[in-house]
Amino acid sequence: MTFTQHRGPVDATVTPRYGGPSTFARLPRMDEVDRADVAVVGVPFDSGVSYRPGARFGPGHVRAASKLLRDYNPVQDIEPFAVQQVADAGDIACNPFDIAEAIRQIDEGTRAIVGTGAKLMTIGGDHTIALPLLRVVHELHGPVAVVHFDAHLDTWDTYFGAPVTHGTPFRRASEEGLIDRTGSMHVGIRGPLYSRKDLSDDGVLGFQVIGSHDMDDLGWRGAVDRIKARVGDRPTYVSLDIDVLDPAFAPGTGTPEAGGLTSRELLNILRAFGELNLVGADVVEVAPAYDHAEITGIAAAHAAYELISAMAAGRRGTDV
Ligand code: MN
Ligand code: MN
Repeated sequence: MTFTQHRGPVDATVTPRYGGPSTFARLPRMDEVDRADVAVVGVPFDSGVSYRPGARFGPGHVRAASKLLRDYNPVQDIEPFAVQQVADAGDIACNPFDIAEAIRQIDEGTRAIVGTGAKLMTIGGDHTIALPLLRVVHELHGPVAVVHFDAHLDTWDTYFGAPVTHGTPFRRASEEGLIDRTGSMHVGIRGPLYSRKDLSDDGVLGFQVIGSHDMDDLGWRGAVDRIKARVGDRPTYVSLDIDVLDPAFAPGTGTPEAGGLTSRELLNILRAFGELNLVGADVVEVAPAYDHAEITGIAAAHAAYELISAMAAGRRGTDV
């Protein structure tokens, strides 16, 4: 077994962390490496939002807040940028006036990246983008278990007659057969719904729910146990709406709801995902205009770091 040297972040003993490249974690760009195991890709799109706009500025904000991420992850006990090649694939250009065209562009752009053998770690953008991302992941893996962190179900049908919005991606994905209806789960759901039917519809579409109100009784370990029992060894896609966090921990988002997870709870849950069969992930709905002191950007950058580390942990012991 040989160890392949991967290109990691810029050396912080040479270039201070507030300088250097503006890529995620100051990693190399995709065009600076031969190939990548994980591609961090930005999708600056927010034409599918129902409330506050602004997530189109999410990718740049999360990258800026990721400059302080370091090479060794002590809780997962792994060097996520050393055991696998992680690179920044830049942003996908999306039409802001035509959702269907933007969906096509996201599909095409991420398909090209996945075609090189890289897993996607996507930074949004509003939650609409999960639909084209799941289509691309489905083509490689078939129906995937979705672990969806969010205050909201995102399985509603239409808004103002529009079927593709940030409140509908998981209904569309379930209808299209993209997700495994026996293995998917929402985590962090809270806040008022339109009616009881929202929940019964959601169950039919294939989701179990860990509500935010369940967290005090369950604790993060209990949540991890329930997720693992639900997902098993299925190919698993994690879709993380930053509004799963309480507005105290993530004010910079479009549809905030009181009573969410702490960033410590979220990160602890994600740190257990090295045992899952992670095939891709996104972190969405960071809207920097409502952020303060980079609080939301830092939370999102750390969530992405834990997900990338979990992808690396899945490679532990393999020759990469
Ligand atoms: Mn949400
Ligand atoms: Mn969402």
